[in-house]
Amino acid sequence: MAINAPEGTRDLLPDEALFWERFKRTAADVFGRYGYVPIDTPIIEQTELFVRGIGEATDVVSKEMFTAISGANLAKLLDGEKLKAKSRLSLRPEGTAGTVRAVVQHDLVPQGAPPAKLMYAGPMFRAERPQKGRYRQFNQVGIECLGADDPTIDAEAIVMLMRFYAKMGMPAGAMRLLVNSMGCEKCRPAYRDAVRAYMEQHEGELCEDCRRRMDMNPLRAFDCKVPGCAQAMADAPKITDHLCDECLDHYGRVKALLCDAGVEYEEDPTLVRGLDYYTRTVFEVQVADGLGSQSAIGGGGRYDKLAEEVGGRPTPGFGFALGYERTMLALQEAGIAFPDARKVELFVACATDDVRDAAFRLAQECRDAGIATELDHQGRSLKSQFKLADKLRARFVVVLGPDELSQGLAKVRNMSSHEEQLVGIGEVPAVLKNAGL
Ligand code: AMP
Repeated sequence: MAINAPEGTRDLLPDEALFWERFKRTAADVFGRYGYVPIDTPIIEQTELFVRGIGEATDVVSKEMFTAISGANLAKLLDGEKLKAKSRLSLRPEGTAGTVRAVVQHDLVPQGAPPAKLMYAGPMFRAERPQKGRYRQFNQVGIECLGADDPTIDAEAIVMLMRFYAKMGMPAGAMRLLVNSMGCEKCRPAYRDAVRAYMEQHEGELCEDCRRRMDMNPLRAFDCKVPGCAQAMADAPKITDHLCDECLDHYGRVKALLCDAGVEYEEDPTLVRGLDYYTRTVFEVQVADGLGSQSAIGGGGRYDKLAEEVGGRPTPGFGFALGYERTMLALQEAGIAFPDARKVELFVACATDDVRDAAFRLAQECRDAGIATELDHQGRSLKSQFKLADKLRARFVVVLGPDELSQGLAKVRNMSSHEEQLVGIGEVPAVLKNAGL
């Protein structure tokens, strides 16, 4: 039986793989103008990093992490041995924890230094129930900015993300930008208590998961997709009524800067996002329709305590990640098509078999001159080679025949104008370059 890709994973076939490359290039181009530079961290990290960084009570850590284990360590486990912390590894479910770990490990933000502005792109892994727009391996592009808590960082990053979507061709009207503040260590505990007290009063209306979360992580109930919970939580206390003066001021500045930049947003006091590490600003970009419950195409926020959680000195941070697959689905919905991955400018055809070596040499010379060149590798007839050249949408075909070749000549055919000319075989690359290839 044929073996298929694992459930919840996708092959990016050539047209889409090319689109993904363009997606990353556009991100690097847009984010680069804001000072972001690339970082590439491992796909596996110590499980402890995610437990401490993202939070044990989050769904991502408690239910959705893939463990990575060597055969030798699996044998130890089966023998009842406990693994050392450094052998307990997980596939990264998101990019922030690893990036912050790298910043701390390599001291990328020494005292007094300007903020580190980092960007990444690559696969993330979550053992979620697969459906359209929700996969077990998916790609994210993200940024992290460490070392500054000024609201200009938050606003700048949100503006930058909206610029990226625009550059990719996403119509502004197809997206909603939701913003909220989650407060800080000073004001959030009292708010969390207020939500917990409210939930205790409405326990009967909540699902089992939310009742369980009530003690550890009551704010997660705002994210619950069960209709009864959404209804019950609609009248719960709002964080915006509980923010301390500093958080209110910070939030107000972020909103004012977004307004100033002409970026439209909606305030959503129930936006809490799935990960534990957020403080103050959180935001999410959703597509207005088409993706059902998987409508979030990107989001992020401020995490001023995360560096300490993973063992670093206090370093404020802000970051976001956007999901490639969901953005791609939304772009398709908006009529953006994948480019055609096949790129052949020139086809070198052989009239007879005895000129194949010369064709091989000429193709090489043309490629060395920078022309995307293909030739027949299957012993096709000349007619069938022309058909193939057409299919590959080659703009020119060079035909090598024994008679012309004996005089050092080759026939160059322009496939759109059908004009033909005989040129010296050594001149072919220059003639084609002159013709615009
Ligand atoms: P998060 O790290 O949960 O904030 O996710 C950031 C973005 O990644 C989301 O807005 C989605 O676009 C995307 N994303 C998260 N989980 C998945 C998944 N399982 N499959 C596909 N995309 C995802």
